[in-house]
Amino acid sequence: MNKSLRPAVIAGNWKMNKTPAEASALIAELRPLVADAGCDVVVCVPFVDLPAALEAVKGSNIRVGAQNCHWEKSGAFTGEISAPMLREMGVSYVVIGHSERRQYFGETDATVNRRVRAALDEGLTVILCVGELERERELGITAEVVATQVKVALSGVKAEELSRIIIAYEPVWAIGTGKTATAAQANEVCALIRGVVASLYCDKCAGGMTIQYGGSMNAGNAEELLAQPDVDGGLIGGASLKAKDFSVIVAAASK
Ligand code: PEP
Repeated sequence: MNKSLRPAVIAGNWKMNKTPAEASALIAELRPLVADAGCDVVVCVPFVDLPAALEAVKGSNIRVGAQNCHWEKSGAFTGEISAPMLREMGVSYVVIGHSERRQYFGETDATVNRRVRAALDEGLTVILCVGELERERELGITAEVVATQVKVALSGVKAEELSRIIIAYEPVWAIGTGKTATAAQANEVCALIRGVVASLYCDKCAGGMTIQYGGSMNAGNAEELLAQPDVDGGLIGGASLKAKDFSVIVAAASK
């Protein structure tokens, strides 16, 4: 399927940055800069910023996402947030399986799968993060690692639910490091992911899926990365905290 038929999505992952007041201010600055975007624009904010962000995007083309959700609807899980809680607030996207959650909070492919399932059950759109460590790339096992992450994460997901899954290919060595994958590396792995989805479901399902690249994407390198045939958008960390830089990336995805 032609890339132009897939929704391009630029999502900001604010990580643990911005207080609610700062979130309102950043969104207010961003709104006019992305008002004419030719792609979907999402900001994934810390949980406590969600009410302020949802208020600040009202009447705009910016959508709000969370950065995680638990697999149970409720219960004795101190410090966690459930998918029904996010849905009731009006949140539409949730990032699941980010490498920082895998690295610092014990997230595994199995728990990623349970969280994906829970988010889909509540009607949320999932931004599912996958990607290899530097050592895994050096060992030449990127394809196996990423294919396994995708297969486990999508286990139990029905073909008709794939329209609410975005996969973000994020090589761990490129996140927050300033080391970006080359456009060819990014495209190669995004194409590989599309192939895995085709083998699990069907060619049409894979052809319609939005697959993002993430890892030190910025205003200077976005255009080349986003021009790749299998790169349909970006998950942006650091550069999403500056309205101007983020809007340049949005403009590059809108071409
Ligand atoms: C991310 O947090 O998903 C990310 C890609 O971060 P950065 O853009 O800062 O590398």
